[in-house]
Amino acid sequence: MIVDRDRCIGAALCVLTAPRYFDQDDDGRVLARAADLPEPPEDVAALAIRLCPSGALR
Ligand code: SF4
Repeated sequence: MIVDRDRCIGAALCVLTAPRYFDQDDDGRVLARAADLPEPPEDVAALAIRLCPSGALR
């Protein structure tokens, strides 16, 4: 899974959907919470990828 912080617009859908894997910094941009993001992503992480409006998660 790719977490592209430069594309993140801070919509927080990933944090709400999969808080086990995602957090936000003080500017609202995504932080990968788990050092071992699932590859391939498990269902909840895959849903967060689909919901991300900026394409920051792939
Ligand atoms: S859903 Fe996408 S745009 Fe929103 S905080 Fe997460 S990575 Fe950033």
